Amino acid sequence: MFDSCDSTKDVQQSLWRSTPLNLPEVSEPDVVRHYTNLSQMNFGVDTGFYPLGSCTMKYNPKINEEIVPQFNGIHPLQPAQTVQGVQAVYDFMDKALAEITGMKRFTFLPCAGAHGELTGLMLMKEYHLRRGDTARTKVIVPDSAHGTNPASAAVCGFDIVVVKSRPDGLVDVEDLKPLLGPDIAGIMMTNPNTLGLFERDIKEIASLVHGCGGLLYYDGANMNPLLGVVRPGDMGFDIMHLNLHKTFSTPHGGGGPGSGPVGVAERLVPIVDVPKTSGFHGNFGVILRACAYILTIGRENLKMAGPLATLAANYIKESLKDSYKLPIPTVCKHEFVFDGLADGGDVTTLDVAKRLLDYGFHAPTIYFPLLFHQALMIEPTETESKETLDAFIDVMHLIAREASENPELLHTAPHNTPIGRPDETAAARQPILKYSFD
Ligand SMILES: *Cc1c(COP(=O)(O)O)cnc(C)c1O
Repeated sequence: MFDSCDSTKDVQQSLWRSTPLNLPEVSEPDVVRHYTNLSQMNFGVDTGFYPLGSCTMKYNPKINEEIVPQFNGIHPLQPAQTVQGVQAVYDFMDKALAEITGMKRFTFLPCAGAHGELTGLMLMKEYHLRRGDTARTKVIVPDSAHGTNPASAAVCGFDIVVVKSRPDGLVDVEDLKPLLGPDIAGIMMTNPNTLGLFERDIKEIASLVHGCGGLLYYDGANMNPLLGVVRPGDMGFDIMHLNLHKTFSTPHGGGGPGSGPVGVAERLVPIVDVPKTSGFHGNFGVILRACAYILTIGRENLKMAGPLATLAANYIKESLKDSYKLPIPTVCKHEFVFDGLADGGDVTTLDVAKRLLDYGFHAPTIYFPLLFHQALMIEPTETESKETLDAFIDVMHLIAREASENPELLHTAPHNTPIGRPDETAAARQPILKYSFD
């Protein structure tokens, strides 16, 4: 009976491989150790604190990872009556996200945040075209915007008009007014904005943009500070996307997996399904995780995410503001920006970021937003304990001391990671992803 393991017996001889497959001949323990060691060389949210601003790298409950594989057997071409459970998930998510955001309907096709932006802008374009309004060729984007906003608008064929921020970090309404006119398709904003500040003038901005015939697009990638507190729909936004892979669980990074459902206000409901931006029904695994996340946490507890994320961000900001330059000293929401060390000499933000790796912390977002030369953007999220925040604060103070006592230590950091400072462009553009047999 053991002979049955020899599968060559069942295959016609004409189909047999004539040359041996070129594979490394290694034992299972060697393979397991190789990949386990490789996995330890990277930094992940499961191994340490990851305070990356404008990207919500939070810990996600493992129960969601347990649930998803149970749906692995389904196929998008299966008859609808055999996948009623899946349809119920989509239906629930449409209603839940509508309640959370104040939008009316969602499309689940987009597979990432930027993909959602493109889908949303296609809806904006379609909306104007259906009214016979062909002159609206421009989209307004604040100078603090996430880079994907102007990029998506450009990909969608719009010209970009930049609106300035005031010194307090909020959109300058006086700078906005003269930009508005019959050529404006809409504005893209996020609130709290990329500096972690709530745009208090949003109602006025909404009525100005609507007044000129434009629509408001909301970048809801990082929705955690708002959950159950404020709704983009109530602020006057017409179209928005959510990053399920940031706010609603699903570990992300390295390009995926993601889901960026797009919600629309009442008047856009008839066209919500027009842009066909992905095959079938989008990234179901991520949508399912978000469903599990919302159901396990529940309506009441979901409202805790925002206050906790805001408390954690302000706690770090206040604890470190003597060691790091704080250009906008007001209360922040889920994230905030330092402009380098208060007293760092020639020690740069890059040096601080690299030194953090030596102490087991991932670096915050650096050199973004572009408004500050040494930007260091910190977002602790709602999932970290006070002990973790305190450990991070201690290390940030320690690095500030090192900067004045031994700057060379920082210029040459990191010292105890598998690699030092790679050529980041080459690492991104020419990654070596497979074994070379030469
Ligand atoms: C992450 C992010 C995006 C883009 O989302 P992707 O899924 O990476 O495409 C857009 N806007 C903001 C504010 C973000 O933080």
